[in-house]
Amino acid sequence: MLQAPPAEPGMREEEVDTPALLLDLDAFEANLDLMAARLAGTGAKLRAHAKTHKSAVIAQQQMRRGAVGQCVQKVAEAEALAWGGVPDILVSNQVVDPRKLRRLAALSGIAKVAVCADDAAGIDTIAAVAEAAGRRMEVLVEIDVGAGRCGVSPGPEAVALAERIAASPNLIFGGLQAYHGSAQHKRGIEERRAAIAGAAEGVRRTVEQLTQRGLPCPIIGGAGTGTYELELEQGLWTEIQAGSYAFMDADYAANGEPPAFRQSLFVLSQVMSAPRDGMAVLDAGHKAVAIDSGLPLVWERPGVRYTGASDEHGALTVEGGARPKLGERLRLVPGHCDPTVDRYDWYVGVRKGRVECLWPVSARGGMA
Ligand code: PLP
Ligand code: MN
Repeated sequence: MLQAPPAEPGMREEEVDTPALLLDLDAFEANLDLMAARLAGTGAKLRAHAKTHKSAVIAQQQMRRGAVGQCVQKVAEAEALAWGGVPDILVSNQVVDPRKLRRLAALSGIAKVAVCADDAAGIDTIAAVAEAAGRRMEVLVEIDVGAGRCGVSPGPEAVALAERIAASPNLIFGGLQAYHGSAQHKRGIEERRAAIAGAAEGVRRTVEQLTQRGLPCPIIGGAGTGTYELELEQGLWTEIQAGSYAFMDADYAANGEPPAFRQSLFVLSQVMSAPRDGMAVLDAGHKAVAIDSGLPLVWERPGVRYTGASDEHGALTVEGGARPKLGERLRLVPGHCDPTVDRYDWYVGVRKGRVECLWPVSARGGMA
């Protein structure tokens, strides 16, 4: 069931129904501006990852600042964005089911759509679907640059897949997907730098071998909020896929030398019980805020910590400072922004304490 919007434009933040997904618009816009400024003149473009925001509205704001398009992880996200007016979408993931591929092929009538592959049979399935749909589909080869998730090894295996794509009359070889997921949250900057140097070695070797066979790589995509500066240093990646930078979260804030983005995303919650000294209980448990990357932080309330999450309750421990009062609203910084956003139907955009806008999380919850 679609939730009713928890606020109206013009309301004060203290009047917003809870729990709600709050976006501090000044911080959010500063983050978008900072990324655009950082990429200007580098030769790399932003293809922001929409798995974070799941919103055509936010995609449009990123593209107005120079992003070439969006990444998505799933076909349902591609549908929400394409029909929401996003003209250039990369599914930065494998899609192997013919039904899902037919949905993607249909979308290529309204947007430029590309997809990744890491398997010869998978490529043949995409080619067969493209042929039946009367479309040419763009396919990138995903290489495993250290995360040990999807992707073939850099080098000959990747080249063989690229040649298979290029040989198909229904497919276009779009380049390489080279994202190092597990490097993003390595706490030390030098650990992250070493991981991305290793990734770059694999990319460089694969590009050389592709070039020898006359296969140019229009896109070399990868990088997230935690490492994008390091991919830029390498000068190889053409598209930066950062997503969390727009919002940030407690997990990114815990990185050593964290990226210079501001916290813009919050879960607004309300104190619903405060029966004893030293504690209070919020109406935001782990159904309201993702805890897969750690518990949320309480924003700007020294001495007040979020120490336990159950389904609908968030336990606060109060050490010094004033105990939050019954009915008081507190902002929480989610441990992990992406899955937190996916729990809500609306962003409540606030500026200087007032609600300014309500944006739908239009790609929310699409499991497919
Ligand atoms: N690219 C890919 C393929 C991803 O899976 C992700 C996130 O998991 C990102 C980019 C964006 O990373 P972040 O949200 O940490 O910036
Ligand atoms: Mn994430």
